[in-house]
Amino acid sequence: MISRREIKTHLNTPPRFDDMFLSLMAAPRLPKAMVKEIRRVVAIARKFNHSVVRPYALELDRKMQENPGFLPWDFVEKANEWGFYTMWIPKIFGGKGYSMPSLSYFMEEIGSACLAMANLIGVHYLGLASLSAAWNMKIMKRLCADVVDGEASRTPCLISLAITEPGAGTDVEEIELADRGNITCHAERVAGGYKLNGTKIFISNGHLSKWHIVIAYADLKKPSETTVSLAVKTGTPGFSFGRKERKMGQKGCPASELIFKDCFVPDELVLIDADQMSGFKRPVRESAMQMIHYVTAGTRAGVAAFAAGAARGAFEEALAFASQTRVEDKLLINHEWAQCLLAEMYKNYALSRLSYIESNYANGLYGSFRELQKKPMYYYYKLTPAGWLRKMFSSLMEKPAMTRIYRKMQMDGQTDAEILRTSGWGSLAKFAATDLGIKNCHLALEMMGQAGLRQDRRVEKILRDAKLLQIYEGTNQLNRLNLFNCLIAPDYPQAVVFDE
Ligand SMILES: Cc1cc2nc3c(=O)[nH]c(=O)nc-3n(C[C@H](O)[C@H](O)[C@H](O)COP(=O)(O)OP(=O)(O)OC[C@H]3O[C@@H](n4cnc5c(N)ncnc54)[C@H](O)[C@@H]3O)c2cc1C
Repeated sequence: MISRREIKTHLNTPPRFDDMFLSLMAAPRLPKAMVKEIRRVVAIARKFNHSVVRPYALELDRKMQENPGFLPWDFVEKANEWGFYTMWIPKIFGGKGYSMPSLSYFMEEIGSACLAMANLIGVHYLGLASLSAAWNMKIMKRLCADVVDGEASRTPCLISLAITEPGAGTDVEEIELADRGNITCHAERVAGGYKLNGTKIFISNGHLSKWHIVIAYADLKKPSETTVSLAVKTGTPGFSFGRKERKMGQKGCPASELIFKDCFVPDELVLIDADQMSGFKRPVRESAMQMIHYVTAGTRAGVAAFAAGAARGAFEEALAFASQTRVEDKLLINHEWAQCLLAEMYKNYALSRLSYIESNYANGLYGSFRELQKKPMYYYYKLTPAGWLRKMFSSLMEKPAMTRIYRKMQMDGQTDAEILRTSGWGSLAKFAATDLGIKNCHLALEMMGQAGLRQDRRVEKILRDAKLLQIYEGTNQLNRLNLFNCLIAPDYPQAVVFDE
């Protein structure tokens, strides 16, 4: 009926929707043991929700409202005790080596009970993702060792990511916009390192973190070509904390101001700079862009998982209300209009979940999860004892050649089409799921009347918390533009994106 040649021709006619086959393509390639691992992770998260998150979520929210200076060390210490800050650190760096897709399912679970607490754990992995994007093995080893030691000594060591500046939010999320933005965070080259000056704002977990991955620029007139990524430790001279934001939602997770005044960062804490980026097949500017896409393709799917949690949390509250409340002598759950609302909410939750799963498939096929999800690699790391892996790789990671080899493999190994596909799907998941999360909050409130507005019913908190998800990890407007840029525009040369 249709020849092979015709199939190829028709599938190659734009707009190409072959991305829709991501799950079909990825599923057979995935190691079966990953399913077992994900089930285990979900069960751990549910147990943690039951014993720690649910009993404390509303209390923490109230506490922060009454005393904005409070830092939720009590929760962070619990999460540290449960091992959550090392669970997704590779075994060669001393962590437990869980696979990256399982982190999304974990985040959905915690997010369904409290988004602020989900962020208190999740942002640490945003920091780690940015750390790993530079493929600087020696620094990765050092920071991961601190996190692992922090778990053993019960003194949590968290990592934050600092990009946003007072005059530049969206502009620092996209290399195309960086040169037009009002960027002021300056990394000046000096003997033996960089001198850092400037301010970062809205940095999640800032006040709680021991390490901060700071993105700065060597030439403020050409930020896109002079990006510098630095690891800065709390307590470094010239680095201090400013205010903690009083915000609408996710109150339990601090958003901090970081201030740098002539803060010296030695070469051994420079993750990557323009000099080190000049050895790849792409020019420096494109390499910087690739690194942003590399990180955000994973972390935006992570925010989508938070949002699936919000969509589910709102649905669960509405369902509980409908099954307990009588209207006109009949339980609400037996009114047709309520059944339609609940069906709509269930659908919204399911779609938000599918969006991050598809995005993870894209990363498994073409992006940051690719290497570790190949069956031989996955089983090698899973079955080899951690101590043995560390012994084998520990001294190797110190060698500059390892950093060079890993970087080259990762950076030059990814094609332009693969970068666009993973990034586009990260954006799709992010804005689709976060919009659906908000939608479910509105539907739950519609069903619950005055009860929904009460704090103890949780929905008003989920709505306040979920609203923030539409803003961080690139606003939803930016993510729509990025989807257009990555998945639609490449077939239409006449399309201009991020135009002045
Ligand atoms: C709770 C919370 C936690 C955060 N955590 C962190 C963190 O840990 N680390 C960190 O670095 N940052 C963090 N941020 C900052 C976040 O990344 C920024 O808020 C986000 O990038 C948007 O920047 P902005 O708020 O400055 O908005 P702006 O960039 O000022 O944008 C304002 C509006 O204009 C639109 N807009 C801007 N430029 C364009 C354009 N070119 N085309 C079309 N529309 C455009 C935006 O979509 C938005 O609607 C956090 C923010 C929040 C709210």
